[in-house]
Amino acid sequence: MVHDLHISFARLGKEECSTCHLLGGAEKGDHLKEARRRRKSYEKDAERATRLVYTADLQKVSMLPRMEMFKEAAFCRRLVALNHSFVPAGGSAPTKPVVANIWHEAIAGRTASEMATSMLAFLTNDALPEADKITIWLDNCSYQNKNYLLFQAMQAAVENGDVPFNEVEFRYFVVGHSFMAAESYHSRIEAEFKKMEVVLNFRDFSAACRSADKNCVTNSLRYDQFLAFPDDRSSSLIGKSSTTISQICAAKFSRGSPQIMIKDTWRRLWKAF
Ligand SMILES: [Zn+2]
Repeated sequence: MVHDLHISFARLGKEECSTCHLLGGAEKGDHLKEARRRRKSYEKDAERATRLVYTADLQKVSMLPRMEMFKEAAFCRRLVALNHSFVPAGGSAPTKPVVANIWHEAIAGRTASEMATSMLAFLTNDALPEADKITIWLDNCSYQNKNYLLFQAMQAAVENGDVPFNEVEFRYFVVGHSFMAAESYHSRIEAEFKKMEVVLNFRDFSAACRSADKNCVTNSLRYDQFLAFPDDRSSSLIGKSSTTISQICAAKFSRGSPQIMIKDTWRRLWKAF
């Protein structure tokens, strides 16, 4: 039946991106070249076993309970459960665990401030190995990964020594070409859900996140952990730069430097934001 209707279950990473679809000729060529360049850089990062390189992504929201086979459940009010996952590029190991920050809508939502809280909770997780530097690959989702609030929160945390790294670097995939380790972890969680059949509550949800990777550490974020970061766009940290947030392809936060360093072209040098 599925076949007759020409429905296909394509992997997300293989779908054509909308930019590819809209652009033509040389522009499309440049876009694809840039996508390949960053993919290569990501793959290189993944191969370097000695470096700490992660990918981070918010899983598609889960509506609990998941029990579609029961008619009674059809109109029941659902609880939105969230999983912000941090997955090592190149796969997990006991020394490089998958960290699943989980919470639900009765605890917090998914505004920029809440996502920044989750990022900082990851960076201070005891399960992470000691390192001077950590690199995190991200997609271009603005409220999750690319906003003034997150950048300022990161700079302050690294500068003040609130995280155990001297340098934190964000690297961004090209829009539409961001298939990463965190997404394959999410597909494995979906498979766990199917195996469980009924995902009744947050405890079941947590169990599925844990069993989807043998090196997974779940971190259930508490209500009082969520910080209200001020979204102050007039801060002296920003505004000196002609670069807009959407042009940024990498950002770097260092201890001992109040400056946020960015790249607006992959192969150019770092500059102050
Ligand atoms: Zn594309």
